[in-house]
Amino acid sequence: MESKPPAGMTLAAPWRPYLSDEMAAVIMPLVVYWLYSGLYHLVEVLVPSGVKAYRLHTWDESSKNLTSVPKVVGGVLLQQALQAGVAVALFVFDDSTQRSQPEPDTWVQIGQLLVAMFIMDTWQYFCHRWMHVNKFMYRHFHSVHHRLTAPIAFGALYNHPVEGLLMDTVGGALSFLLSGMSTRLAVLFYCFATMKTVDDHCGLWLPLNPFQKLFSNNSAYHDIHHQLHGGKYNFSQPFFVFWDRILGTYMEVKVLRREEDGCLQAAPAVCRVSAYLPGVELKRRQERKRSRFCVGLFSTSSG
Ligand SMILES: [Zn+2]
Ligand SMILES: [Zn+2]
Repeated sequence: MESKPPAGMTLAAPWRPYLSDEMAAVIMPLVVYWLYSGLYHLVEVLVPSGVKAYRLHTWDESSKNLTSVPKVVGGVLLQQALQAGVAVALFVFDDSTQRSQPEPDTWVQIGQLLVAMFIMDTWQYFCHRWMHVNKFMYRHFHSVHHRLTAPIAFGALYNHPVEGLLMDTVGGALSFLLSGMSTRLAVLFYCFATMKTVDDHCGLWLPLNPFQKLFSNNSAYHDIHHQLHGGKYNFSQPFFVFWDRILGTYMEVKVLRREEDGCLQAAPAVCRVSAYLPGVELKRRQERKRSRFCVGLFSTSSG
């Protein structure tokens, strides 16, 4: 008896001759991470004068990061190895994670992607915020990521391994399991999320970059969070900004041209939040905090 074709669009899977969908879900995001961040790095190294006008930080600021390139690369590789091990174990030991076929209707798959994005954003917002609020978590784990005061593309996943497992591995597994997506769709989702987070850390503001055009949560938005006085704002990652807006941690960003050297700078658009939460009166304390942030920003990071 002939088998029926799948109900929906069958996703192209160029990795299929070499890898199962499960292994592709583990390996492809790693390949995408180094290719995409490597591309950014190559452009920065080969044409520094060409990218200068798009940089959100001066070279001097980038050189003041509290870690070195070898440490960033080593830290990311260690974390990726641990995460890959956990993901392989999950696929090997849990049958419910093997969902290669059949693939559902195209609209169902789009819905699954949106659900997965919502779950990932929700998990990461609350974990991320907790890691800032809880001094122990910040000091021992999340401060590693914030050694990059001027983000770099291949430092997007420069985290303490505990943070990587909690935020990325658990967040990725929850998004996959709760959305009900196929393993093949998960490969695309993980690769897209990887590219998005690399782009958010690229340190450049590029006029035709689709990630930066389509998403309010982009390299300038996340740059604010990495700045010295920005650690209490813009926790949302990697896709949307709604949790920041709803919970009052939203800092709208504008990109300014620095007159002294021609670089750009991500800065708060205004030092109050009421414009973005209509009808919500700002507490005086919140306003004072934002004012301090603005003063701090312009007196430190532009120098
Ligand atoms: Zn943070
Ligand atoms: Zn970051």
